[in-house]
Amino acid sequence: MRQKITRRTKKRGEHHLWKGGRYINDAGYYMVYSPEHPRAMKNGYVREHIVISEKAIGGILPNKCQVHHYGDKLDNSKIVICEDQHYHNMIHTRTDSLLYSGDVNRRKCKFCKEYDDIDNLYCKHLKTRSGWNVYHRGCRNKYEMQRKLNNTHAKNETNKGMVPEYGCSRNK
Ligand SMILES: [Zn+2]
Ligand SMILES: [Zn+2]
Repeated sequence: MRQKITRRTKKRGEHHLWKGGRYINDAGYYMVYSPEHPRAMKNGYVREHIVISEKAIGGILPNKCQVHHYGDKLDNSKIVICEDQHYHNMIHTRTDSLLYSGDVNRRKCKFCKEYDDIDNLYCKHLKTRSGWNVYHRGCRNKYEMQRKLNNTHAKNETNKGMVPEYGCSRNK
């Protein structure tokens, strides 16, 4: 009874998605039909770059490993197998730095969005997420001051009704 249901689901999946054995998922990656694969989804499909990586390393890709596309997301001939998310993030940071500043070692200030030498920036490792908080101290101070100003402004806005309006006495 249970087997019958499984078979029906798979068949329906194939009928709907079958395009030469692969389709593009919502995230924009090729999916290939491989129902026996340990990472296969309910419809029996696996991300193609995982299957290709596993062929390259000759075994199962460990769960903490990630696959980076250095070309187009759909170009599975241009991939790098990363040992973990940290390594993958580093590739993206360095690639972006090279692209936007011409130097792989620069980092982007989260406030002014400019790339600069690490020596000029404050870099704080984020404990909760895998990544870094990077900014110029000056930009952060400016941001904090602006925030305080905005708060004061917001308070004044709330008190508006209580403050007498200028110009009224002249019209009287
Ligand atoms: Zn990547
Ligand atoms: Zn800045």
